[in-house]
Amino acid sequence: MPELPEVETIKRGLEHFLIGKHITKVTVKTAKSFTGKSEEVVGHKVIEFKRRGKALLIGLDGNLWLMIHLRMTGQLIYIGEEKFAAGHPDKSFVEKMPGRHTRVIFEFDDASHLYFNDQRKFGFVKFVSKAELEKDPFLTKLAPEPWELTPEEFFARLQRRKGTTIKAAILDQSVIAGVGNIYADESLFFAQIFPGRKVADVSRAESGKLLKGIREVMEASIASGGSTMKDYVRADGTKGNYLEKFAKVFQHDGQKCLTCSNIILKTKIAGRGTHYCPECQK
Ligand SMILES: [Zn+2]
Repeated sequence: MPELPEVETIKRGLEHFLIGKHITKVTVKTAKSFTGKSEEVVGHKVIEFKRRGKALLIGLDGNLWLMIHLRMTGQLIYIGEEKFAAGHPDKSFVEKMPGRHTRVIFEFDDASHLYFNDQRKFGFVKFVSKAELEKDPFLTKLAPEPWELTPEEFFARLQRRKGTTIKAAILDQSVIAGVGNIYADESLFFAQIFPGRKVADVSRAESGKLLKGIREVMEASIASGGSTMKDYVRADGTKGNYLEKFAKVFQHDGQKCLTCSNIILKTKIAGRGTHYCPECQK
């Protein structure tokens, strides 16, 4: 499942290929995957890209937006003179497009195409006006980005989830935007906090360190091209290698902690597979 750094990498890749192009045709193959009047997208020019949490926002002229969420199995494949494939990894990356799971196709004025594929159909493309986008329930519920929150605001937002574990709290998109399982485990290791600790027992100083950790692990991931395990392919078709290069606890269970040499453990916290060092994280 693509997380914030992966969506940011997708944004940067698509930006490079699509800004300035006009959309000449939109084909909706699965009605559930597209909200809005697809015929009204035609003729508009791509002018900007944004990201909010794990949502990709494509700005068109005329104050119009395409909002794309990949969810579990969504992928975006751009085919022009070059190819860009990102999101959920499967053999569609190397197959002829459109494929069996292609839900929406955008065609551009240089005859290039963008395919939105989604095997399980939890993802979506929404065509909305600027005003509708600003009122969109998905975006209005979303907390600020890690880089927009001050340590004080982050601590205050955590207090809304006092009774839960710190891992569950940072996975909550209304507390902080964009933190998924990998980044939760890595940032809690950075801050030396046991993921199962109650929010009420996390001090102000610790929450400050945790926010710093969230930013740092995400920045490192974006810099290395992002990754969701083995499943992410960059703009140039190569795989992101964030985990191999960077992860210190995620999927390191049974291996030695790089800090203290104790064995990294795996358990279930907040309903998710959770990796931690029992010595470094209390
Ligand atoms: Zn350790």
